[in-house]
Amino acid sequence: MLKITLGTNNKHKIDEINLIAKNYEVEFVLPSKGYKAIEDGNSFLKNAYCKANCARKNAKTELFLADDSGLCIEALKGAPGIYSARYAQTAQDRINRVLEELKGIDNRKAKFVCAMVLVNKKGEIVFQVQKECHGTILEEQRGKNGFGYDPIFFVDSENRSMAELSDTEKSKISHRALALVDVLEFLKIYNIKGGD
Ligand code: IMP
Repeated sequence: MLKITLGTNNKHKIDEINLIAKNYEVEFVLPSKGYKAIEDGNSFLKNAYCKANCARKNAKTELFLADDSGLCIEALKGAPGIYSARYAQTAQDRINRVLEELKGIDNRKAKFVCAMVLVNKKGEIVFQVQKECHGTILEEQRGKNGFGYDPIFFVDSENRSMAELSDTEKSKISHRALALVDVLEFLKIYNIKGGD
């Protein structure tokens, strides 16, 4: 089984990623205690690189992956974008801010974006990808699953909010799933395997 350190402290994210990866011989593990990454890039890809690069510290694996993701709303000129996690203090406050900013606006088109960067022990980029999941911002919250902005994001292709999808359903269509499948296929094509 190939083990890859995932640059995150978010347990929900690692569970979501391991669920997507369950049909591949790959397991994602948390970074060592005290992991902290400074996200000072001006793009999802740059921030994903920062997070993956920082995960190398005290790690036991050969490869390091990180994602940087966010919600981009057309009428808000792409906001909250790379600031999605910092748009307000709590997840509920962030949802409230988006709903408030879109009050009275007809164009509610939005997309979730996910950039993933895989780096080696030297911090060199081995693979990178950016994927999107398209939808519409609802007028009010729907559904209880997922996290973050999921309850206000209506997934066009599924005709339901992201929070109304089961974890397994989300793991097939999300921006993170699409990006991760590319990473996993890359590892498979190049026959990159773990030692045990
Ligand atoms: P980061 O990628 O962990 O830096 O954070 C991205 C932020 O974007 C999260 O804290 C969420 O607010 C939001 N976000 C990213 N992906 C999703 C998703 O799949 N559902 C809901 N919100 C998301």
